Amino acid sequence: MKALVFYEHGGLEKLQYTDRPEPVVGPHEALVQVKAVALNRLDLWVRAGIPGLKLVLPHIGGSDIAGVVAAVGEEVDQAWVGRRVVINPALSCGRCEFCLAGEQCLCVRFQILGEHTPGGMAEYAVAPATNLYAIPDDFPFIEAATVPLPFQTAWRALIGQARLRAGESVLILGAGGGVATAAIQIAKLAGAYVYAVTSTEEKEQRARALGADETINYRQADFAKEIWQRTNKRGVDVVLENVGPATWKGSLRALRKGGRLVTYGATTGRFAETDLNLLFWNQPSLIGSTMSTYAEFTEVMGLVFSRKLHAVVDRVLPLSAGAEAQSILEAGEQFGKIVLEP
Ligand SMILES: [Zn+2]
Repeated sequence: MKALVFYEHGGLEKLQYTDRPEPVVGPHEALVQVKAVALNRLDLWVRAGIPGLKLVLPHIGGSDIAGVVAAVGEEVDQAWVGRRVVINPALSCGRCEFCLAGEQCLCVRFQILGEHTPGGMAEYAVAPATNLYAIPDDFPFIEAATVPLPFQTAWRALIGQARLRAGESVLILGAGGGVATAAIQIAKLAGAYVYAVTSTEEKEQRARALGADETINYRQADFAKEIWQRTNKRGVDVVLENVGPATWKGSLRALRKGGRLVTYGATTGRFAETDLNLLFWNQPSLIGSTMSTYAEFTEVMGLVFSRKLHAVVDRVLPLSAGAEAQSILEAGEQFGKIVLEP
């Protein structure tokens, strides 16, 4: 099969569009013919090399896959064959104390398809059959591929972890990102007032079109000061963070007393300074979030595939243009998801 692979970690030049053997299906797995695969920032980090993550090389990235089930292992219901699906990229063991409690994304053996295991930037991919999610016949593969990772991440962060409620205000950073575009819609659906921070006027307009009530261009203004002024020196109830050290102090300053900061990423680095005086005096909650539980995944997929939440596609390119696609994502030129077609 054709696949986008790298034989060693490094820059864009390490990506090769080449022939690889089709993956072998285990007894509890499904083989999916990939119709569309969406990029995530994770793909860039995995290619560059994540400290402590040892991969079997060559590696095929790609965590967000839509396609058709081509075959299943002997322990899997044959009725899956031929069905249109997306794959939940959250891989959990099913037997640790957290999995047994229904908290799959706290699994002690937690992995992400396309990060720790071969992903979908290929004509075929395998996944545990428990990670298949059937999609409607009329739902386009290109839109479907943009959904699993960003929507479950945004849903758990805002709803499961930060417990965002109707009438509250939320600040969403990096509004052009896949998780952020999902988060704007989820926050509006929850009845919250949304401030979105982004880098260009065009992206501000697109964030408002998705439902953001107000936008801030961080190149023109200090977002924390803006929030302070616009909320009459109160701050917002919830901040959704993924930037890290470059915004961490501002995010804490933008919170109301007793507010909640929820982070699902650290794009600008792993270590950020927290003012401990501010932490005990203002009493915010600092909350982490990664992927989601099965229950959260199912809930948010239901909302997307019944069209209450919408996929945001930036552009579609052939799988052979995978390096170009990753360079666009690396430069942050996109709004929403970049999708590849094998
Ligand atoms: Zn587990």
